[in-house]
Amino acid sequence: MTEAEADAKKRHAALAAEIRAYDHAYYVEARPTIGDAEYDRLYRELLDIETQFPELCASDSPSQRVGGHAASGFAPVRHAGPMLSLDNTYSEGEVREFVRRVQKLLPSESLEWTVEPKIDGLAVTLRYEEGLLAVGATRGDGTTGDDITANLKTIRTVPLRLAGAKPPAVLEVRGEIYLPSAGFQKLNAEREAVGEEKFANPRNAAAGSLKLLDPKLVAKRPLAFFAYAAGQIESAAAPRTQSELLGWLKTLGFQAPEKLWLCRSEEELVAAIHELDELRRRFGYETDGAVIKLNDLAQRERCGATSKAPRWAMAYKYAAEQAETRLRAITIQVGRTGALTPVAELEPVFVAGSTVSRATLHNEEELRRKDIRVGDAVIIEKAGEVIPAVVRVLLEKRSADARPFDFPKACPECGSKIARTALAGEEETGVVWRCSNPDCPAQVRGRLEHWCARGAMDIEGGGEVLVAQLVKSGLALDVADLYRIKLGELAGLERMGEKSAQNFIEGVAVSKSRDLWRFLHGLGIPQIGTGGAKSLARSFATMDDVMTAGAPQLTAIRDIGEVTASAVVEWFADSRNHDLIERLRSAGLNFRSELYQPAAAAGPFAGKTFVLTGTLPNLTREQAAAKIEAAGGKVSGSVSKKTDFVVAGAEAGSKLEKAEKLGVKVVDEAEFLRLIGG
Ligand code: NAD
Repeated sequence: MTEAEADAKKRHAALAAEIRAYDHAYYVEARPTIGDAEYDRLYRELLDIETQFPELCASDSPSQRVGGHAASGFAPVRHAGPMLSLDNTYSEGEVREFVRRVQKLLPSESLEWTVEPKIDGLAVTLRYEEGLLAVGATRGDGTTGDDITANLKTIRTVPLRLAGAKPPAVLEVRGEIYLPSAGFQKLNAEREAVGEEKFANPRNAAAGSLKLLDPKLVAKRPLAFFAYAAGQIESAAAPRTQSELLGWLKTLGFQAPEKLWLCRSEEELVAAIHELDELRRRFGYETDGAVIKLNDLAQRERCGATSKAPRWAMAYKYAAEQAETRLRAITIQVGRTGALTPVAELEPVFVAGSTVSRATLHNEEELRRKDIRVGDAVIIEKAGEVIPAVVRVLLEKRSADARPFDFPKACPECGSKIARTALAGEEETGVVWRCSNPDCPAQVRGRLEHWCARGAMDIEGGGEVLVAQLVKSGLALDVADLYRIKLGELAGLERMGEKSAQNFIEGVAVSKSRDLWRFLHGLGIPQIGTGGAKSLARSFATMDDVMTAGAPQLTAIRDIGEVTASAVVEWFADSRNHDLIERLRSAGLNFRSELYQPAAAAGPFAGKTFVLTGTLPNLTREQAAAKIEAAGGKVSGSVSKKTDFVVAGAEAGSKLEKAEKLGVKVVDEAEFLRLIGG
């Protein structure tokens, strides 16, 4: 391997791991930790490396998959045809290249293009049978989404019945669920008022809303739907072009994007993109780009698609808002998990509706790659509620004495050794330095702050300032200590008023009865955010059940994969953590889950235990497990005499052998589906 190849391989692995982590935060937690434009730049770098070194483009590369994930609590739906993503670009030059590429695929054909707003929401598909809404689902991983019909039925712009006398026998309408700007602002204001974290952008807000399990709550969110495509169509009146399709969908009762441009040349396309950029500011909803599509549906067929996106379409994205400012200093923040994050301390500057004085520099590698130095003039970028980022340095304005930043060689907080270690379940990215001392005051503060945070135990007054004082004075060195603090002990702390002390003590007392999912989230178990904590709390009745659960039991939960399961098992196996839980038990914390949903007592599989083994032809393991649970059955990780059925797919191994030995009934996917009735 040449040096260039080795470097590319290393960078590719780091990028892929970083992108997967961002995907998790974005798609699973609906809480992005990086702005879209920054994300798209990293993603583009990954693609560029893969173009240059195609052997790095393995099937598990983020470039080969539609980003997305099925949520827990919904039945899976397999799409009739795949729901793909779109290739995107921020450059007009690349729009022109795209047009030439398509022309090469369709030599000497005359091409017509449509340009429509790219609505910042969430893709869904609506299946109508004989004119009635039968099923509505999310895109999920592109092949299988979540059945969210009940939630979609609460949205007024989703017709329950198609307009017109002769509805198509089957029609799959695809489009975007979005929150109009006014609704988005209002929702975030309400969340802020009750102390919940704001949604980063309307898309995450729409996604978060559709994941709610109670349709009554969804009905309260002012969601709306725009139709822009069709999947399966069984109708005499099938349209032949995008413009005909949108016109037809309107006659059937759908809202379609308010403006559509028809273009015949690169020049016209670029002009339409500019025009849309002007117009979109007056739309009542967020648009983050322009979608360019071939108008003729038959031509599209001939172009085809990659595993991720059609070859006949492209999204041009409008750049996020940027501003120039000066970097005053670089500080290092040590977080709850010991991660050392470089932070840019900036001269305050107004961008995208607020004043920004700090921005993340992500990690040492980013800092080096962008060659950011103290004193530099920098361009910063802000997108929605996501932490601002430094995009690049204006090298022409750099002073001659600017020096590269010396990244610390030890923890700046406690002086301990730092190492590039990954957290449990995390891929080794090799880019994040972590402090190796679990008792590092910064980590202790981080854990306490996280415990007190609104999304966790929600303890009034337990913010940064008080937590810092508690740690400094030695009153609290872990979360269990909070429950021993006496009112009188707080009096000695600096600037601690009697009222605030009282409120805090009461807040701590109230937190003892918080629901189990908050408790689980507050512990800061790697891989377990709010979503994961809720999944655990839905599947286990008590903390003890979670603590003693093995990996097979955990992976049987729809939202919990093997990585998360092993992170949970590892965390509880650590004696320090075990002791902490016991001290919290003695302090009187609630160990029971209000979210717990025992598997349905009724249903065709009530009381039956299943073991899944091998690869099934159509269903993923999670989907099969969800079907079993929905039918009242249980999924177990190992075969015993108590097992009722083993569902075996290709390459089933020892579990199948054991089942045969014990005389347990073995079924294939087809028979399993027959048993379950569909
Ligand atoms: P995408 O959002 O770039 O484009 C595809 C989607 O556009 C479709 O699925 C559809 O939902 C939507 N769309 C809106 N209007 C449309 C129209 N008129 N016609 C057709 N489609 C329309 O791609 P994606 O795969 O959904 O998401 C990937 C993008 O999400 C990334 O490029 C990035 O910007 C963002 N992302 C951000 C993070 C982060 O951490 N910030 C992480 C993952 C993904």
